[in-house]
Amino acid sequence: MSKQEKKVSRRSAMKLGVGVASLVAAGGVSQANAAEVKTPFTVEQVYVPIAGSSQEFPVRRIYCIGRNYAAHAREMGSDPTREPPFFFQKPTDAIQFVAPNKIVDHPYPSLTKNYHYEVELVAALNKGGKNIPIEKALEHVFGYALGLDMTRRDLQRFMGDQKKPWEIGKSFDHSAPIGPIFPVAKVGDFKNGAIALSVNGVTKQSADLSQMIWSVAEQIAKLSEANELFPGDIIYSGTPENVGPVVKGDLVRCTIAGLPDLVIKIV
Ligand code: MN
Repeated sequence: MSKQEKKVSRRSAMKLGVGVASLVAAGGVSQANAAEVKTPFTVEQVYVPIAGSSQEFPVRRIYCIGRNYAAHAREMGSDPTREPPFFFQKPTDAIQFVAPNKIVDHPYPSLTKNYHYEVELVAALNKGGKNIPIEKALEHVFGYALGLDMTRRDLQRFMGDQKKPWEIGKSFDHSAPIGPIFPVAKVGDFKNGAIALSVNGVTKQSADLSQMIWSVAEQIAKLSEANELFPGDIIYSGTPENVGPVVKGDLVRCTIAGLPDLVIKIV
């Protein structure tokens, strides 16, 4: 079996597993019949490589927190002292894996004339749950990665101004570049440390992870009050101030102390 075939079969098996689990949960099929479920086509599971391992992390859902650094909340026009956290999702199709020490082409998306970067720490969960207490929350984190919450800012604002969902500004193909996931067992938890982003060598965003309004543990606890969390869920933990636009040809470098840089070129 070729390497490619192995990859395809593994993906199919994973897909079947997910389908069975959800059907069983919905009462659609019995456990006995579950193994016999056949599908007319396969749906590809999205994976992110795990650093220092041949294993890959299967992504179930992508959650993002909004306005989680005070200065960024202010630049987006809100008062950070009075707002509870809010979350949105991106589809797993939004994942664009960016290998470390490589410049990866990132397509400028359709429909926008104001495409923004947002550098973020990403927490990847390998344990789910409901109403997870804050003091237990970090036990649910498998590892961390560097990520970008790329945003069609003009569409986000346009839809927001009309009081319509601003999903089109946030949830689209390739809008979630991400580096490899580093297991907590190797790199520990990221409660503080520098987070920064430069465009063409000029620093644009520079802050410390400790400046998050809601910590990763608090985000997990809050999210798990709204939805049951599952292994494979990942959380983009918010961006510091000084978000801004990129154009084709720009080189965007993201850094978090303790992780290798993530670099994309807008094409
Ligand atoms: Mn963001």
